Amino acid sequence: MPPDSTDPVASFVRANEAYAGKFAKGDLAMRSKTGVTILTCGDSRVDPAYFLGLPEGEAYIFRNAGGRVTDDFLRLFFITQMLGSRRVMVIHHTDCGLNRFSNQVIHDRTRNELGLDSSGTDFLPYTDLDQSVRDDVARLRSSPSVRKDVLVSGYVYDVKSGRMTEVTSP
Ligand SMILES: [Zn+2]
Repeated sequence: MPPDSTDPVASFVRANEAYAGKFAKGDLAMRSKTGVTILTCGDSRVDPAYFLGLPEGEAYIFRNAGGRVTDDFLRLFFITQMLGSRRVMVIHHTDCGLNRFSNQVIHDRTRNELGLDSSGTDFLPYTDLDQSVRDDVARLRSSPSVRKDVLVSGYVYDVKSGRMTEVTSP
């Protein structure tokens, strides 16, 4: 059996060849149509292109561990603000690893399972899902990196039902 047939990356590359073969969106602008920026988790079950029905060119989408407002996200948001973004959706989700594991558990596991020292890293875990959304919305609203006319709202996406619920309105 050739290795190609079992390598998921090889299958992704083949899928891209099929995608490019039918691609007809090469004229899309760098500036998104809606100006909405979405921050959510990198969890494989949480993809706003699917659960918000977003084709290419609609919104700026950033994903990290938990969908947390980090210094790195704020650095990226300077760019999307320059591209006209004045709306942000912060979307955390049920069954998130950051709601299940403390920093200490993650540090212990990276050491025991990976042989890596992550003790200097704050993974921004949380215990209250809705409060984690409110905290990140508040951080954006009070950040000197964010224009005062940017509207920020917060949501929880349920990985069992596929439904997104508002926690904080704009
Ligand atoms: Zn997550």
